[in-house]
Amino acid sequence: MGTQKTKKRKRRTVFSPLFERKWGVLGTFCIVLLLLFLAIYLANPEPILNKIHALAGVSAPPVPAPDALEVYVLDVGQGDCILLRTPGGKAMLVDAGEAIYAARIKRFLYGFGITRLDAVVATHPHTDHIGSMAELISTYEIGTFYLPDTPHTTESYLNMLEALEQAHVRTKTVYAPGTLDLGDKDVSIRILSPFEGVDYNAEGMNNWSIVLRVQYGETSILLTGDAEAYAEGVMRANLKDQDLCATVLKLGHHGGSTSSTEAFLTAVSPEIAVVSAGAGNDYGHPHRETLALLAKYGIPLYRTDESGTIKLMLDGSGVSVETERE
Ligand SMILES: [Zn+2]
Ligand SMILES: [Zn+2]
Repeated sequence: MGTQKTKKRKRRTVFSPLFERKWGVLGTFCIVLLLLFLAIYLANPEPILNKIHALAGVSAPPVPAPDALEVYVLDVGQGDCILLRTPGGKAMLVDAGEAIYAARIKRFLYGFGITRLDAVVATHPHTDHIGSMAELISTYEIGTFYLPDTPHTTESYLNMLEALEQAHVRTKTVYAPGTLDLGDKDVSIRILSPFEGVDYNAEGMNNWSIVLRVQYGETSILLTGDAEAYAEGVMRANLKDQDLCATVLKLGHHGGSTSSTEAFLTAVSPEIAVVSAGAGNDYGHPHRETLALLAKYGIPLYRTDESGTIKLMLDGSGVSVETERE
């Protein structure tokens, strides 16, 4: 009993009022720090999630190849990022959103157990299309990387080139008319823009966008990057309407009114249209002129700013759509 009393007394001396005050200060400091981290995370979670994801690695069990050509128009705010999965088990990425969305894109690819992208296309060098490229290039094995013949001086573009060089990725500068071989015999991809010998420079970099028509059976999708009226005119002048005709049209330049001219829209004659735009974006994309034109021809529009990520299933005879949100 006597010994126990001594021990108790000793413990009391350890938790002296001075120590309790110190602990109190330390505790408050920790709570403030925690709240600060929480505030930073809530304001902008992507960089923190990016770090967590990097620590966790990127390998997950692969998801079996789909029965249809699956096209995912990812919600990457104001930007473009489109994943295609083919029945032959190939994966292709067209554009990669702003750098801030790298973690989101990687989490999405992780969900399919994707560690290799058979083809990656950077439609044109604007950051809302290539911002996350450097991060993705250093993460995934890439079959071939396709880009248009127009350089840029931005940090995102230079980082992308550096990452390609460091990872020894095979790159290909493409011109229309041409094809892109993804290695799936059932899926054919044609390059419809930009045309060699055409001076797109005066019309702005958006018009340099690589435009692709991806076909599976009787179904197809036209991926237009940020191509605007000028590039659309060049395509119409150099291609037949049946080369442009597609089941689904990904609207050029986030649905801006300088793209999707009436002549181009009627040439493509899509059953449905899809647009990638950020909720409440500063540009007012998609523009009401574009929405009016789609309404005139009765073409339903799916928007990432309203529906989140959009999944299109082209099964060879028809197309069905699923959205992240209603
Ligand atoms: Zn854009
Ligand atoms: Zn652009």
